[in-house]
Amino acid sequence: MEPPLTHVLILGGTTEARELAEVLDGRVRVTSSLAGRVAAPRLPVGEVRVGGFGGVEGMVEWVRGHGVDAVVDATHPFAERISFNAARAAGVAPVPLLALRRPGWVAGEGDDWREVGSLEEAAEALGEFGRVFLTTGRQGLAAFAHVGGVHFLVRAVDAPEPPFPDDMDILLQRGPFTLEGEREIIARHRIDAVVTKDSGGAATAPKLVAAREAGIPVVVVRRPPVPEGVEAAATVVEAAAWVQRVSGVSG
Ligand code: NAP
Repeated sequence: MEPPLTHVLILGGTTEARELAEVLDGRVRVTSSLAGRVAAPRLPVGEVRVGGFGGVEGMVEWVRGHGVDAVVDATHPFAERISFNAARAAGVAPVPLLALRRPGWVAGEGDDWREVGSLEEAAEALGEFGRVFLTTGRQGLAAFAHVGGVHFLVRAVDAPEPPFPDDMDILLQRGPFTLEGEREIIARHRIDAVVTKDSGGAATAPKLVAAREAGIPVVVVRRPPVPEGVEAAATVVEAAAWVQRVSGVSG
């Protein structure tokens, strides 16, 4: 009898998570886990589960109960809680864990970036601006709710819920975005600053180029660190190689 396939749990919600599921499909059993925040998420190939696990204990239970052999945390670099939970759960289960984190963006010539450590600090950095393109997502808008004298253009996949700034227009859009589109938004809305998380990746990078071209600053929220002791990979290829290594699956 064939031995059962290695079961890999991918904590997802990112482009890289979907790409990894595709690369591993057929070689191992893959279950992708989504938080369930987005109303109509892009689904990866393979098995999918949706919703929180119920903290560290819930994740340990799920991993044990479903015979998971390895976990790849491919969540967004700013999804801090689930990454912390994964680090704890992997230690308890125990099961090997890899954090897949695409590289952050790097400022180029002509960029005027103002780096800050949090959304709250980003809100504090907006005093000199009048019309701000806020691209940090639907969650975390509360940090900007008290900012006065600024008109916000908020881009999100789904409509946000309060608290959010009073003076706000909403742009319901999902990436990837084009340079042409980002230029048009900045010009049409007379944007004088962009706020972004350092998400990295190509899908949402054109706004950085458009801001540079328009000569406007970008307030960039620095990433939280990968939890201590967790091995990290920067690309899907590296992550697939890690799965191969820990599971002994042939490439
Ligand atoms: P978070 O604050 O780190 O997590 C909050 C809780 O949501 C977790 O404790 C967990 O609930 C649940 N959760 C999060 N990701 C999950 C997943 N992949 N599978 C199952 N449960 C998950 O997360 P977040 O910042 O709200 O992000 C939620 C999801 O959206 C992530 O999967 C992330 O990849 C994606 N995303 C986030 C951002 C961002 O800027 N934060 C941007 C794009 C996409 P339990 O404790 O009950 O397990």
